[in-house]
Amino acid sequence: MKKIYVIGAGINGMSAAVQLAEHFQNKNVQVTVMADKLTPFTLSDLVAGLWSPYLMGNTDPDKIIQWSKGTHKFFHELWINGLAGESGVTMSPVIGLSVEDPRSCPSWKDIPFGFRELTADEVEKYSNEHGRNYLSGYQFVSFCCQPKKMLPYLTKRFLKAGGKFEQRKIVNLEDVTEADLIINCTGLGGKFLGDDQLHPIRGQVTRVKAPWMNGVIIDNSDDGNYIIPNDDSVVLGGTHQVDDYNLNVSLPDHDFINAGCQRMVKSLVNAEMVINGVGLRPGRNSVRLETEYRGSGKTPIIHNVGHGGSGVTLSWGCGTEVLERAIDVMNTTAKL
Ligand SMILES: Cc1cc2nc3c(=O)[nH]c(=O)nc-3n(C[C@H](O)[C@H](O)[C@H](O)COP(=O)(O)OP(=O)(O)OC[C@H]3O[C@@H](n4cnc5c(N)ncnc54)[C@H](O)[C@@H]3O)c2cc1C
Repeated sequence: MKKIYVIGAGINGMSAAVQLAEHFQNKNVQVTVMADKLTPFTLSDLVAGLWSPYLMGNTDPDKIIQWSKGTHKFFHELWINGLAGESGVTMSPVIGLSVEDPRSCPSWKDIPFGFRELTADEVEKYSNEHGRNYLSGYQFVSFCCQPKKMLPYLTKRFLKAGGKFEQRKIVNLEDVTEADLIINCTGLGGKFLGDDQLHPIRGQVTRVKAPWMNGVIIDNSDDGNYIIPNDDSVVLGGTHQVDDYNLNVSLPDHDFINAGCQRMVKSLVNAEMVINGVGLRPGRNSVRLETEYRGSGKTPIIHNVGHGGSGVTLSWGCGTEVLERAIDVMNTTAKL
């Protein structure tokens, strides 16, 4: 029996693992997820999971479209097939605004539903409401996928397809000597496995109870705040501090988040706080999705790391490319 090890059980590891296990089920291939942290203790569990490409360095725009489109299709299928509640997928209107020079439309604008730029009158209306001097804005309808719910759903599918888990921390990817193929989905952890390009982009958020909020508002300006509702609470954000490893909640960041979000939506003053959270986004010059043959045994490794602020947005689409690469690798090694 051939053995595939997916290292990492965050949203990227589990999205790849499910597609691998379902494809290779009954094909004499065992897929195992190996990770030191499982849900609900991964970075992915912290976040609101808005589908909206963000903070991916210089990743090729065609790849962003390919991966984010694949994920959007997956969320849409869950939505129309009655699985939204179980998998933590919600649908929300999104307003994006910016005080910086009018920005050109994002390259991915044709993927979500109903993307359009705001008119000058609409931008002015939001400026007055939010106490900001916005220069541009857009709106569309998107999905949020709360990983805290999606990860248990993916785990169920993975186990049903015969997948296995092993809770273990590795110090070298080559240490998994039992693997015929390794899939590296270690997020920022990949930095300590030799990927020097990976770096933290610190994000602090506050979760509140505000059941009257059902739309996303993002101020895309460098000093902007955002409001992203999940089905049980609303995430207020946030910071993006490059190369900052501080996992403690910062009071000045908390004040910045509350003041900024309450300025945009006054009724948030009355929202009950649930929790503050800090996570380190796996920043990278560009998302790394490539196949490498490493070590004297030339063990194939498919790297799937460095998704920055878009790990949820790209997850299923990247997992699909991982599967395609894994099929290639397994076919090639079978011929050797
Ligand atoms: C505040 C904040 C808000 C965000 N909001 C959004 C959003 O709205 N939409 C969006 O798309 N993205 C968002 N992101 C980004 C997103 O959270 C990340 O890109 C995503 O979670 C990365 O997922 P991952 O599976 O690659 O890594 P992780 O979730 O970090 O998982 C890594 C896994 O690898 C394992 N691992 C690491 N090293 C080792 C090792 N040496 N041995 C064994 N196991 C190891 C870990 O235990 C874990 O299981 C946000 C991030 C932050 C911080």
